[in-house]
Amino acid sequence: MNIHEYQGKSILKSFGVAIQEGIVAETPEAAVEAAKDLQKQTGTGWWVVKAQIHAGGRGKGGGVKLAKSLDEVKEIAGKIIGMQLVTPQTGPQGKLVSKVLIAQDVYYPGESKTTEFYMSVLLNRQTGRNIIMYSTEGGMDIEEVAAKTPHLIFKEEVDPAVGLQGFQTRRIAFNLGLSGNAFKEMNKFVASLYKAYDSIDASMFEINPVLKTSDNKIIAVDAKVNLDENALYRHPDYAAMRDITEEDPTEVEAGEHNLNYVKLDGNVGCMVNGAGLAMATMDIIKLAGGFPANFLDVGGTANAARVEQAFRIILKDPNVKAILVNIFGGIVRCDRVAQGIVDAYRNIGEIPVPIIVRLQGTNAIEARKIIDDSGLKVYPATLLKEAADLVNQVLNK
Ligand code: GDP
Ligand code: MN
Repeated sequence: MNIHEYQGKSILKSFGVAIQEGIVAETPEAAVEAAKDLQKQTGTGWWVVKAQIHAGGRGKGGGVKLAKSLDEVKEIAGKIIGMQLVTPQTGPQGKLVSKVLIAQDVYYPGESKTTEFYMSVLLNRQTGRNIIMYSTEGGMDIEEVAAKTPHLIFKEEVDPAVGLQGFQTRRIAFNLGLSGNAFKEMNKFVASLYKAYDSIDASMFEINPVLKTSDNKIIAVDAKVNLDENALYRHPDYAAMRDITEEDPTEVEAGEHNLNYVKLDGNVGCMVNGAGLAMATMDIIKLAGGFPANFLDVGGTANAARVEQAFRIILKDPNVKAILVNIFGGIVRCDRVAQGIVDAYRNIGEIPVPIIVRLQGTNAIEARKIIDDSGLKVYPATLLKEAADLVNQVLNK
């Protein structure tokens, strides 16, 4: 689960990570009040107005702006709140901004002795260990750094049996070219950052930039915090940070019906039972020249009600030109699923796209008969290859 920058920073701060301080606001007037409060707390005279959306690259899209007076705070907040912010990570439609973070300006005015670093913490799935990835090239696109200057990206892997060790935080500070007080500060920063990552069951932290101020403090200016959804039950306070307005509405609705649905960009809707079969089905669709419009695992209990709900969700996507139902009857009985399809068809009314149905396993023959006798515009298939060819055929009609 993704959370906003201001929420991520509040978690980091609670673990002792030094952050660029800020106060969140939902109106230009509240932004001015936040700016005044922040001035009292931190003494800052300039502020940064930062759009709060679940996507990076906000700076490039015009969602992060420096304000040098309270009037400017009000003006800039007024422009950013309510805007449809387009960044390299939002897609062309952008994301609606409903909150801004009024943050202290930490790039000390008039001075250029600040340095931006990159730091992330994530799981290395190959080794099953957490790694700290870091670079001297902060503030820019890390993908670009990785492509052009991969030798400037360092990795520190943590042994879970002993945790992050002092020699490792020192190596990080050293590789970042730090000395003196900044060196010490970086050690503290990395240690508390890792402690936070480990304690909250995060799945990813990305702090870009980590800033060395002109007076040698190390602080998190940005915070992308991703939490492991499977562990959220252990952290009800973090679970409450979920912002469903940032999520795909169809995915939210599918979640409410316990359907495992992920929206994709293609034109063939899929309804499958089992994640493995769903992946294989998506591969088959591509092989047949189509593109999957979604991943959808209806799960072990593919009964009529779930089948109908799944159809309704798939059909919300206007890009869907055909639907491939691929159900393996292991625990579920294919004839039940077939009946579910027929019922769903009648309940929904006219389904405007062709449906290819492959039901295999328990009671597959009975299922085929139900489909054939229904008189509906459904293309039955037995083999996976047949189903794929049918997809190709209906797409090229
Ligand atoms: P992102 O674009 O979504 O990654 O958002 P960031 O929080 O990283 O901010 C984008 C950029 O805004 C940073 O890389 C900085 O260059 C700039 N920025 C952020 N905070 C400050 C600040 O306090 N002062 C100044 N002058 N610039 C800032
Ligand atoms: Mn950033």
